[in-house]
Amino acid sequence: MILDDFSLAGRVGLVTGAARGLGQGHALALAEAGADVAVLDIFDCAETAAKIRDLGRRAITLQADLSKATPEDLAGFVETAVAGLGRLDILVNNAGIIRRQPAAEHSAANWNDVLTINLDAVFFLSQAAGRVMIAQGSGKIVNIASMLSYQGGILVPSYTAAKHAVAGVTKALANEWAASGVNVNAIAPGYMATENTRPIREDADREASIAARIPAGRWGTPRDLAGVLVFLASAASDYLHGAVIPVDGGWLTR
Ligand code: NAD
Repeated sequence: MILDDFSLAGRVGLVTGAARGLGQGHALALAEAGADVAVLDIFDCAETAAKIRDLGRRAITLQADLSKATPEDLAGFVETAVAGLGRLDILVNNAGIIRRQPAAEHSAANWNDVLTINLDAVFFLSQAAGRVMIAQGSGKIVNIASMLSYQGGILVPSYTAAKHAVAGVTKALANEWAASGVNVNAIAPGYMATENTRPIREDADREASIAARIPAGRWGTPRDLAGVLVFLASAASDYLHGAVIPVDGGWLTR
């Protein structure tokens, strides 16, 4: 039956940036759908792990700074997840940072930090997970893109460069791995109420003008992404490759 195709029972996921915000939401959505989940963050993921266990699923936590992780370190995180939970079926590349600074002054440090976390870690973690998934003949990689995978944004050139590249890497990996039973797709969230967007939400005029431009009339929440995430992580999306799916309250269509 069709709803069985969305079940993640017996699957194992790895979610980066899972201590809070959208990443915590992704981890809990996978667990609600039946998966055991390894959660990675620079901060302690104990709260997310406790919530996963409350749902009756297994969880392991990995604490690491993705800005300092080498490709070998990233492969090690995949090995830890496989060793701890027995296999790896789903990777959600969610961890990301944003640095707001005008392009004319945008520092090398901001450029490098954003590109390292938002792009390099996405590629090399996907590479390590992809090797496991290709060998087992199945797997789901979900990258978290952005409206700035389509648009230029203001004051965030490093973030825009990284998120455009995430869309490109999603398509490149999808092309190479589709025939091996590995699906690589992305979700492009719209404006979501998280720590990432707190500075612009604290500017009352900016907050209101963004909400007014969203056809749905409100900012998104982590829960708004759960349905698409479970779809992309499950057998229901087995013939979907290289898609970048906006979940944005209609922002892009306006
Ligand atoms: P957030 O800042 O609340 O969460 C990001 C998570 O990544 C945090 O738990 C943080 O600790 C972790 N992280 C940051 N740097 C890290 C590092 N060096 N090593 C390991 N973990 C690190 O932000 P969020 O809004 O939940 O963002 C999650 C993802 O969604 C990001 O990729 C972001 O670009 C993307 N996104 C967010 C929005 C939005 O409106 N909030 C919109 C589009 C895309």
